[in-house]
Amino acid sequence: MSLSRREFVKLCSAGVAGLGISQIYHPGILHAMTEGAKKAPVIWVQGQGCTGCSVSLLNAVHPRIKEILLDVISLEFHPTVMASEGEMALEHMYAIAEKFKGNFFLLVEGAIPTAKEGRYCIVGETLDAKGHHHEVTMAELIRDLAPKSLATVGIGTCSAYGGIPAAAGNVTEAKSLKDFFAAEKIDKLLVNVPGCPPHPDWMVGTLVAAWSHVLNPKEHPLPELDDNGRPMLFFGDNIHETCPYLDKYDASDFAPTFTKPGCKAELGCKGPSTYADCAKRRWNNGINWCVENAVCIGCVEPDFPDGKSPFYVAE
Ligand code: SF4
Ligand code: SF4
Repeated sequence: MSLSRREFVKLCSAGVAGLGISQIYHPGILHAMTEGAKKAPVIWVQGQGCTGCSVSLLNAVHPRIKEILLDVISLEFHPTVMASEGEMALEHMYAIAEKFKGNFFLLVEGAIPTAKEGRYCIVGETLDAKGHHHEVTMAELIRDLAPKSLATVGIGTCSAYGGIPAAAGNVTEAKSLKDFFAAEKIDKLLVNVPGCPPHPDWMVGTLVAAWSHVLNPKEHPLPELDDNGRPMLFFGDNIHETCPYLDKYDASDFAPTFTKPGCKAELGCKGPSTYADCAKRRWNNGINWCVENAVCIGCVEPDFPDGKSPFYVAE
């Protein structure tokens, strides 16, 4: 099978999101997509998070991470997987941001702490103009890089909506990208790919769709976003409405325990108030998804985790 870039994006966006990247991928697709085209320059930074989003990306199956790195993106900076470190890595990141000014994707994993001038999250060290040691905060990094990016992408619920770092208590005054942009008056296209963590297809698919738009805006309109900045391509479905156990729900036939197959409504499932294509796409190469042996805890929603807590009590 060989698909053109146009056919690929059309397939992803034509309501077959459940048969998205994992199921329809063939090496020919990415080659067709990237043939003659530059790879998308990407800078990936990490703030207040658990690195689970990075781990999820590394678990990508179709395409595998190797193909993503060789065929889809040019990953210029990533604190977890890059070989370089320290001053050299930071200098490279700043140099790339200048070289590709207005033409790179800034991917942000983790929330941005703003209390104590952002000092709860130090992401690197530099020397200032006088040669004095300077600690670079996550807030400073976003303030510096986001305006230079082509678009900034909130990877995971922490950067998209604040997530766990911004949950009740929030002594670090953690902010989502949207709130940080508003406070700092940063006017830049912001796309959210939430999830705790996000599915690898959601991350790669969003980048592919956005980069295809950059390469050929006429043929590939920017993917439609919902009111929370999420691509409808992956977050347009209601979990409950697409769940294979909807019939059981309608018949009030509820599973008594997590490990029994069936509707988990009485165990606290938050599927009815959650929008993502997990039920159709499934996880771990399509083997399973949350509802098979637990519940949906609404991890992609702006009110996660406080609004979805307690996780194991019905709404
Ligand atoms: S398991 Fe959850 S999402 Fe599925 S039908 Fe029951 S309540 Fe809805
Ligand atoms: S099923 Fe629910 S909790 Fe699980 S990944 Fe999807 S949105 Fe998140």
